[in-house]
Amino acid sequence: MEAKKSVVGVLFDEETVCLDCLNVGEHINLMRGFLDTISLQDIKGKDYLCSRCQKNLPIGPAKSILITGRTGPDPRSHKGGQ
Ligand SMILES: [Zn+2]
Repeated sequence: MEAKKSVVGVLFDEETVCLDCLNVGEHINLMRGFLDTISLQDIKGKDYLCSRCQKNLPIGPAKSILITGRTGPDPRSHKGGQ
């Protein structure tokens, strides 16, 4: 199932993190649909503060992300590896 979302941030446990503050690995997880996302609709009428840069969401334009959902675990957690 595919769904397009206007994502402005991500939820990590107690933390709210804007897209700007995500590192590369977190971005990959986001695209894979592994993270709890905050959409434009979610922040309507509420205050969401990024835990890392302390700015109010949304920061910049929302990102349209196609969440393809979980396709099963990837057995290759590392490229190559020794
Ligand atoms: Zn931030």
